[in-house]
Amino acid sequence: VEPQPIAVAAPAARRTRQARVVWGDRVVTLGGDAPVRVQSMTNTDTVDAIATAIQVKELAIAGSELVRITVNTPEAAAQVPYIREQLDRMGIDVPLIGDFHYNGHRLLTDFPDCAQALSKYRINPGNVGKGAKRDAQFGLMIDAALKWDKPVRIGVNWGSLDQDLLAGLMDENARRARPWEARQVMYEALIQSAIGSAEQAVELGMAPEQVILSCKVSGVQDLIAVYRELARRCDFPLHLGLTEAGMGTKGTVASAAALSILLQEGVGDTIRVSLTPQPGESRTQEVVIASEILQSLGLRIFVPSVTACPGCGRTTSTTFQELAKQIDDHLRAQMPVWRSKYPGVEALKVAVMGCIVNGPGESKHADIGISLPGTGEAPAAPVFIDGQKAMTLRGERIADEFHQIVADYIER
Ligand code: SF4
Repeated sequence: VEPQPIAVAAPAARRTRQARVVWGDRVVTLGGDAPVRVQSMTNTDTVDAIATAIQVKELAIAGSELVRITVNTPEAAAQVPYIREQLDRMGIDVPLIGDFHYNGHRLLTDFPDCAQALSKYRINPGNVGKGAKRDAQFGLMIDAALKWDKPVRIGVNWGSLDQDLLAGLMDENARRARPWEARQVMYEALIQSAIGSAEQAVELGMAPEQVILSCKVSGVQDLIAVYRELARRCDFPLHLGLTEAGMGTKGTVASAAALSILLQEGVGDTIRVSLTPQPGESRTQEVVIASEILQSLGLRIFVPSVTACPGCGRTTSTTFQELAKQIDDHLRAQMPVWRSKYPGVEALKVAVMGCIVNGPGESKHADIGISLPGTGEAPAAPVFIDGQKAMTLRGERIADEFHQIVADYIER
């Protein structure tokens, strides 16, 4: 086979409209040419305003660019302005999104301060109501969005799908000469619910770019199928996430698998990784994972990257693992300070490698790299800076000296 230049892989361009999520004099754009945004959701009781404000702060510091809170009762709605106030007082620069189900029309109408303090409303068309009542209640939520100039997300979820719509599509399917598979009918119901409600919101006066859509399911292949079609049928900004992804490794891997495929195809303007936190695990983990997905795909850069080999029988000690972790922890911890002090520092690439096999090569590809001595190698660790061998470290203090070299490089 005659070699041809291999196309460089890159995420496809997104083609959605751009929403503006505003709070005070600040704005986060979402969709269009805006970077893919990371968002998350609190799991505190919103009535506990202090606990909620603290968790929003933690999520924002971890990198969440929008944070959603549950607004499920009058007591919760009454606390929303106070939560906003606390965040402003703490200097936490993040918009709050209200998550509404069943009674959102009443809460947004009865608590104008809540409606005003939120920067975006999530509406679930599957539980707004039924028939004429549904239209009236949906209309009240859109009225609030128009009155307070807020974008909305029409957030469909297969766990709370509009049952009347689904039943209608199933009847229609039964009449087909060759009926679709049940899951294909479900896909159609999800998409029709989202797009139909979005079009209704536009008819009621919403600007199309201020309507964001999501169709969340918990299966990876289902999510891919639904979002590919959703993106093909509309240009509303898309909120992407695998719902109820699960716990720990399973939830992380499933989210990364599903979201990466779609993001590479240019589908998704904001992402949320929905993990069930394990006991003692911080809620911020989902933000770290979402950020890592975007950074791994080259869509965003949040923190310097540390490349480390997995280690094998050639590594003489765990020094390189410890060093890689130390460097990674140090770089992440310093980022809040460095971001403003050293613009562009997040693009830094550091390599910490365990032996000569891939060590020098990988280190040369990084801004700074070290190749630690493996089994049978001379006890020397060459350091590469900007692709050139700069020095060789020896002795007991290799880790400390390399740490300093990285710090000096950043300072320079
Ligand atoms: Fe093993 Fe060396 Fe490869 Fe690291 S670089 S995995 S130590 S062969």
